[in-house]
Amino acid sequence: SPLETTKRKVAHSDQHGFSVFPDQVRVPNVIVMVGLPARGKTYISKKLCRYLKWTGFKTKVFNVGEYRRTDANAADAIHGANASFFSPDNADALKVRTEAAGRAMEDMADYLNSGAGAVAIFDATNTTKFRRKTIIEFCKNNTLRCFFIESVCDDPAIIDSNVTDVKVNSPDYKGLMSAEQAKEDFMNRIENYKKQYEPIEESEDEKLSFIKVINAGRSFKVHQVQGHVQSRVVYFLMNIHLLPRSIFLTRHGESEYNAMGRLGGDSPLTEDGRKYAVALGEFFEEESVQNLRVWCSQKVRAAQTAQYLRPEMHAEYWKALDELDAGICEGLTYEDIQQRYPKQADDRAADKYHYRYPSGESYEDVVSRLEPVIMELERQANVLVVSHQAVLRCILAYFYDRPLSELPFIDIPLHSLVKLTPRAYHCDSTIYKLDLETGEWDETSAQLPLCDSPRD
Ligand code: ADP
Ligand code: PEP
Repeated sequence: SPLETTKRKVAHSDQHGFSVFPDQVRVPNVIVMVGLPARGKTYISKKLCRYLKWTGFKTKVFNVGEYRRTDANAADAIHGANASFFSPDNADALKVRTEAAGRAMEDMADYLNSGAGAVAIFDATNTTKFRRKTIIEFCKNNTLRCFFIESVCDDPAIIDSNVTDVKVNSPDYKGLMSAEQAKEDFMNRIENYKKQYEPIEESEDEKLSFIKVINAGRSFKVHQVQGHVQSRVVYFLMNIHLLPRSIFLTRHGESEYNAMGRLGGDSPLTEDGRKYAVALGEFFEEESVQNLRVWCSQKVRAAQTAQYLRPEMHAEYWKALDELDAGICEGLTYEDIQQRYPKQADDRAADKYHYRYPSGESYEDVVSRLEPVIMELERQANVLVVSHQAVLRCILAYFYDRPLSELPFIDIPLHSLVKLTPRAYHCDSTIYKLDLETGEWDETSAQLPLCDSPRD
């Protein structure tokens, strides 16, 4: 629609690293979760928020449960909201819940109308037509586009594991009861919601836009999608899955250019780099990861790093995984750049995320060419990515949920392997660092930190 036309002139960053385009015209989006408790609404909200932020949309989740727990006038809403609190007959509690939803909506409207955000995700059950009608009216009055995501799930095994893995740790139960008691109470909460649950129907509102995600993505119903953001959300939801798996990320081994401190190029591995490649082959021999796929950039140093992996690991070479193109600075050292192009060095230091090398790329450019890689990583099971520092910073910022402003500063040393394992609301991260002398891997469970030297 013409309202969504984005005129890109000169981009600059705000304090969080998001691009700011002074004359951008847009309609903000509210994404509204719908579904019984333990249907993955918070999971989807957080994951979608992370994805949209990474692609450059300022996005925030507004969780009604959290608003409810800040109601100073209702002690039972703050701590110890047991199943009876969510009974349709509990008029007092219903008032507290409606009021909490109202506060969350007001904050969403402030967030979007002030220009602070482009997308708000409204994370609550929203299981009644009446609640959804209120939200639709509210969005209309505030000129906000509204899209519903309903998670429908009748697979008892999924519900059971959701409650056991996540719900027993809810702040509603903290310090009050055992995990078994919490589980029983939560099952009763679900029963109370079932009494009032009205699944979304097309007839509810003539302009209703929604997607129903059925049994964790086994099937979908998509209705009246409007605009760019909604269509990306639908595409994303259709690609994610819940199967356990791990993603391994590594830079290539040390290259001749690395050893000389030169940027980019397409040089082969040094002797140390080759040792790393051999050790990487041995690591995956021992680890025996099921059906591991290997994705490699098209640079010589990356292909050489992957060469000792078993052929059945089936390496694929992606151009999109090639290192950030440093344009006229390719092959130079940072000292050369400082001497020859001091203005470039200053511009880069001022905004590393948006800075684009003349005839080359910026980090922002790399993120946009990596979007298909992220989508494909979401679809796949076990994958090893052999790529380069800047590219892996972009991929890691996505999985670590780090702001774009921090992305160019994530410290990814050579000869280190990162293992990411998705959990309910976050990703576990294990770093294996190779000692080239002993051939031993040193293992730490942590996220990679930010660099001491912000230039590289
Ligand atoms: P809710 O917010 O609906 O109460 P949560 O998001 O807290 O539920 O539940 C988290 C669990 O939901 C995670 O363990 C995740 O594996 C699971 N999950 C994620 N997506 C779905 C889905 N589409 N259907 C069912 N369960 C899901
Ligand atoms: C809650 O209070 O935890 C909640 C999800 O609220 P509601 O069901 O009213 O959306």
